[in-house]
Amino acid sequence: MKLRFGLSRVIHPVTVTVFPSFCRLCGRALEDPEEKIICTRCLDRVEFHRGPVCPVCGRFYHQAAAAGHLCGQCLEQQPPFSRHRSLGPYSGRLKEVILLFKYKGCESLGRVLALMAYEHLATDGLFEGLDFILPVPLHRKREKVRGFNQAELLSGALSGLSDVPLLHRVLIKARNTPAQVSLEATEREKNLRGAFEVRRAGKIAGRTVLLVDDVYTTGSTLKECATELLRAGAREVRAMTLARAV
Ligand SMILES: [Zn+2]
Ligand SMILES: [Zn+2]
Repeated sequence: MKLRFGLSRVIHPVTVTVFPSFCRLCGRALEDPEEKIICTRCLDRVEFHRGPVCPVCGRFYHQAAAAGHLCGQCLEQQPPFSRHRSLGPYSGRLKEVILLFKYKGCESLGRVLALMAYEHLATDGLFEGLDFILPVPLHRKREKVRGFNQAELLSGALSGLSDVPLLHRVLIKARNTPAQVSLEATEREKNLRGAFEVRRAGKIAGRTVLLVDDVYTTGSTLKECATELLRAGAREVRAMTLARAV
């Protein structure tokens, strides 16, 4: 017994020196107990888009004169969601943090990212008059493999910050579709057609809801989800993502 106690006393400080926590992006030691996975210096370097955007789809504009005007794509065909907003382009530090968030063990980044999104996008009135927040669902098989749905983690954190209730298992992904990554925009839309279903439609009838996902690539996932929600009787569907690839 004496020996074991002695060993544990020796082992404890050794494990601490051998495995301290380092920032997963820059490698600096995490000193503040509040710092988890990423250091505050890296988080401060995450860049948001602060200029004007398309009032509907949220496309980033780089000229002040474009403010208030619909983008070419929305002029051609308005998306089913009333507006979509994103924190910034899917590049640089923002992309690095989002990619880390997909790893097991880095789920706590969801709270950090949700806080950034809430602080940056609430000023745009995105959360005003909302009845529910809904995550873009994963197919149950995909979720089982991955272990969690990052859109759901974000939605949960946003619900806590905004006091807007989270709606679980109303919008579901009924059909498992091939990964979107390798597909062109038109193929993406075909790939997703009819993949989402609304259960317990009465919950959202006449309601204004916010759909949450991590990345906006072509918008086809959000469009398909929004179409289903409107078909099920939702009054208005808004959308929010962390980053926008286009
Ligand atoms: Zn760092
Ligand atoms: Zn637009």
